[in-house]
Amino acid sequence: MDPEIPVISIVELGIVRDIEEGSPPHVIITPTYVGCPATDMIQEMVREKLDAHGYGHIGIKNQLSPAWTTEWITDEAHEKLRIYGIDPPGGHTPSCPRCGSQNTRLISEFGSTPCKALHACKDCLEPFDRFKCH
Ligand SMILES: [Zn+2]
Repeated sequence: MDPEIPVISIVELGIVRDIEEGSPPHVIITPTYVGCPATDMIQEMVREKLDAHGYGHIGIKNQLSPAWTTEWITDEAHEKLRIYGIDPPGGHTPSCPRCGSQNTRLISEFGSTPCKALHACKDCLEPFDRFKCH
């Protein structure tokens, strides 16, 4: 599970990219953005899972190119984000994940984490995070 969004996995977020064959094989992970404070934590979590399942020999590679994009987030994960209360990324008008209203305003470019912006719904008055596209 993602350390910042506990309802979706790092596979659904597109952070786990691939398994590279070889000796040893490697799990390829791409951080959501360079300098994301969760990157080290994610790497440690993958390490722990691998070790716990007897895959201690498998390495982990950080791959920065191609850069992660919000397009790698699966459709299912978009729905889970919305249910969790985060407006998923995409070309759509920001919409309140609670009531669906598009009558919203931007409060801050930085929400609970730097990869999200803080909006507020003018109808139900609830604030919500919106995943920024990049
Ligand atoms: Zn609302």
